[in-house]
Amino acid sequence: MVKIECLVCEEPLQMPTYIDPDDYDGQIVCKKCDALLHIKLRDSKVKKYKIVKYEIQPPDIIVQTNIPPYSDEPKRL
Ligand SMILES: [Zn+2]
Repeated sequence: MVKIECLVCEEPLQMPTYIDPDDYDGQIVCKKCDALLHIKLRDSKVKKYKIVKYEIQPPDIIVQTNIPPYSDEPKRL
């Protein structure tokens, strides 16, 4: 079984049973911080892994802050 930690909160993610670790390319949600992550698995190895969306939800404030999706390629100005 592939062990993967959340990129946001470093909580170990529990892979749903429908995910085939030998061939999976899709999204997974961290149960702890609700971060949306995109993961690509091939032969039980992580080939690609990035944060798709992560909304900070303070308990007392309704306003949500969106962090831009993580990009593999650094942007040059
Ligand atoms: Zn998390």
